[in-house]
Amino acid sequence: MKVIKIGGGCLQNEHKIDQITTLLAKRAPGHVVVVSALHGVTDILLSSIPAALEDDSRIDEIVGRIKKRHLEVARRLVPSANKRKAFNEQLKAHLLELERIYYGVNFIQEITRKSSDRIASFGERISACLLVCIMAAKGVHTAYELPEKMGLITDGKFGDATADLIKTERNLRTTLLPKLNKNQIIFVPGFYGISQKGEITTFGRGGSDYSAAVLAMGTGAECLEVWKDVGGYLSADPKFIPGSQLISELSYDEAAELSYFGSKILHPRTVEPLRKKRLPIVVKNTLNPDAGGSVITHRRRVIKPVIKSIAHTHDIGILKVHASGVGARLGILGQVSSQLAENQINIKSVVTSQTCISLLLAAEDLEQGRKVLMTLKPRPFRRLEKIDNVALVGVVGEGLLTQPGIAAKCFSATAGCNVNVEMIAFGPSRVALYFLVQKEYLKRAVNAIHNSFFLSPACDLT
Ligand code: ASP
Ligand code: MG
Repeated sequence: MKVIKIGGGCLQNEHKIDQITTLLAKRAPGHVVVVSALHGVTDILLSSIPAALEDDSRIDEIVGRIKKRHLEVARRLVPSANKRKAFNEQLKAHLLELERIYYGVNFIQEITRKSSDRIASFGERISACLLVCIMAAKGVHTAYELPEKMGLITDGKFGDATADLIKTERNLRTTLLPKLNKNQIIFVPGFYGISQKGEITTFGRGGSDYSAAVLAMGTGAECLEVWKDVGGYLSADPKFIPGSQLISELSYDEAAELSYFGSKILHPRTVEPLRKKRLPIVVKNTLNPDAGGSVITHRRRVIKPVIKSIAHTHDIGILKVHASGVGARLGILGQVSSQLAENQINIKSVVTSQTCISLLLAAEDLEQGRKVLMTLKPRPFRRLEKIDNVALVGVVGEGLLTQPGIAAKCFSATAGCNVNVEMIAFGPSRVALYFLVQKEYLKRAVNAIHNSFFLSPACDLT
């Protein structure tokens, strides 16, 4: 038995949904299918919260938009009104609940992480019902199982929950495993689980990959297949490097590093639940389902040219905390990081020297991070500098730390193209080397490194 995860990209419009459900009808009976929300629906659900808070007369329109989007797909793909009946009822019930929560937010005049998580979870719940309806109309046997019913237990951290693998595995043994049947597809909404207290907690944006990994672990599936409408892992972003190559095999660490900084292929924590049981992840392209895709396993294969991929992200900024002797003074780092943590701001990475602590934050957290550090009293630093014109490059490959000359090759490639490297982190991860460049030189840097490892040593100065 496999767990298959269907991404929102495959659920963009009725054409794509028709394609994916046809593929599911052929390949998914006997398996568990974890679904994302229809493409863009989570964004609508979340971005509508401020409008609902401000003006309750907008709620009708917001809920109406969600309704229309799903009804249109159902009407086109399931022409028989009779066969849509059950779905219409489920949609109605979900939307009624959603509407109530938006009114609740408006009434209380407060958006909490708890209510955002409940609101965000509707995209997956509705898309799973929709797929069940479409599959049933194709004559495929299906079942619909909810994370809250099967006991997908989390640590209760809203917006960024982690599954309790031991409790979840124990629950799935009695709730999900007995329902597996080789003629039936079991659909499960991804993206969220349930806390010990019974509250809906999401796994963060893109979290359906993680849900699917938890289910694969908990059911002892042979593997997790992640179906996407793009290829698997590539040696670089094809928008930057048109000739980038598919990586057919990666280690868990390589996939995690690539996801964490830059690659949008998988949720960064997808590999966590699978490591223990050494379950492989296969990233498949639905437009070419017979191709092997990218396989992620526990094997740490060092290949030529050592580097497997060059990831990058603009979603990064630095807060530089200047103070003399920070490297030797007790407690500054703790004070600064607790202040950020108390304000729900995640630190992606830290580099310290004697005079400065550089904190890498997501771009959207940068200003808020600056503000909350400025409120520290007494101020433990001399100056706080915010740098937002940088981008991060991550060079990833098993063996990178142990093979001599890899870092030198990267930096002579960037230097050869006149790109100045701002900050380097080499060593904390066995498989990754990170550095920052000015945003405007990002493409040039990625090109130069890609060329130097994968092609000729020549560099592209465009
Ligand atoms: N629908 C959620 C999101 O857009 C989760 C997912 O698609 O994995 O983030
Ligand atoms: Mg995703």
